[in-house]
Amino acid sequence: MHEPDGSGAILVRGAGPVGCTAALALSACGFRVALEGGRTAPAGFRPLALSYASRLILERVGAWEELRPTPIETVLVSQKGGFGRTRLESVDAGVPALGYVVDYAAVAAVLHGAIERAGIAGAFAQAPACVVHAEGSDASMPEKRYAQDAVVACVDVAPASGTIAHERFTPEGPLALLPYGGKYALVWSMSPERAAYFASCPEDAFLAGLAATGGRAIGHPRAVSSRSVQPLALRVRESRVADRQVYIGNAAQALHPVAGQGLNLGLRDAWDLAQILRGARDPGDARLLRRFAFERSLDASSLVRVTDFLAGAFVGSSRAARAARGIGLALMDVLPGPRRFFARRMVFGASALP
Ligand SMILES: Cc1cc2nc3c(=O)[nH]c(=O)nc-3n(C[C@H](O)[C@H](O)[C@H](O)COP(=O)(O)OP(=O)(O)OC[C@H]3O[C@@H](n4cnc5c(N)ncnc54)[C@H](O)[C@@H]3O)c2cc1C
Repeated sequence: MHEPDGSGAILVRGAGPVGCTAALALSACGFRVALEGGRTAPAGFRPLALSYASRLILERVGAWEELRPTPIETVLVSQKGGFGRTRLESVDAGVPALGYVVDYAAVAAVLHGAIERAGIAGAFAQAPACVVHAEGSDASMPEKRYAQDAVVACVDVAPASGTIAHERFTPEGPLALLPYGGKYALVWSMSPERAAYFASCPEDAFLAGLAATGGRAIGHPRAVSSRSVQPLALRVRESRVADRQVYIGNAAQALHPVAGQGLNLGLRDAWDLAQILRGARDPGDARLLRRFAFERSLDASSLVRVTDFLAGAFVGSSRAARAARGIGLALMDVLPGPRRFFARRMVFGASALP
């Protein structure tokens, strides 16, 4: 176990959802932990689709019971202006729900409550043995800026949304509609110019544009609220470990939100770090941190590739491209093996959970 004199102390920097989860999981492993950072959250509404694996992690750190999420039991994947459709069901992944939709602010509030209950301090007097960076992504990380921004909003529809999420690929970029308390939480990627227009255009024009893009399956959009624009980029840190330092969550990799995977991946970073350090006398031991980086690399790099591919592959309106996408979606729909593999990867990543 770590030294009781404080030499085994861990400082987590950044009190976003990943930093809070890491602080709670490390504290539960018996480490002396401090969590540095204010309670800042992204401006406006940010819907998050949490996977079943994320639910298990949040349950284990005592930050699930108070959340009131909307479950996703089915995901319908389709493309605008082309054939082919895939239906992913929770049974494909062998879990009670494929995901749970919550607002970032709600997750942050529940986690901060758990931090207070656990009595986790804000700072240490002495230098810690290990610093966990969870400050989110920053401009020093190598960046690939997508030619897309996301419009984020909450949409009232008739009939009310149930437990079906829609992922619709359009020539402009992916449109995600997540069931959210009878409404839909919308993340709609498109060119920055069009995103600026849809973020501020009259409500009627927004609803007409959404109805034309979303197709009949989403019902009739009636009202929109909480509109904002989010620039989209892929940022991946070259190395997730340095001398007595480790980077997790968006501080290690920030993804395109196309498959709603950034936080899910970050929570697995936080959980796996605590499991690898569990029982260590020195949590800054370079061999342990290298082992963490190695073990997380498959999960992170495969999601970086998948989200980067999905963000770009479905953009473009040529007939050949539409046909290729249609065949891909149709094949996925009829072949249970690949569908199950994809569904489980989206729920659990390439990690050892549950
Ligand atoms: C439009 C959109 C939709 C998304 N949808 C999903 C989804 O459906 N599912 C999903 O899994 N992910 C989704 N994501 C990704 C998800 O929001 C991020 O992956 C997640 O917020 C990362 O959490 P984090 O704690 O690592 O970083 P952040 O949420 O960025 O938190 C970092 C924290 O550190 C603080 N901080 C910064 N600098 C310092 C400093 N120097 N010292 C101390 N503190 C500091 C910040 O103020 C902040 O509180 C989406 C992202 C976007 C943009």
